[in-house]
Amino acid sequence: MSRGSATPCAHCETGYHAPFGRFQRVAMRDEGPTFLMRCTMCGTLWEEAPLHARVVTDGEVRSAYPRAQI
Ligand SMILES: [Zn+2]
Repeated sequence: MSRGSATPCAHCETGYHAPFGRFQRVAMRDEGPTFLMRCTMCGTLWEEAPLHARVVTDGEVRSAYPRAQI
């Protein structure tokens, strides 16, 4: 797994939107619902919520998605 780079790939630079095949679902949080998604190109983790999506840090993932395999 190659992560930790501060430079987003072209997908992430463009932002989180269709086509969503660029992102792979890693985990789901019931009380959102929100989804943890991983960029298939660079591995950046995104949180997808009903109204927005944003990049999340490893620390946020560990607290919000304790069962996620990251
Ligand atoms: Zn990316």
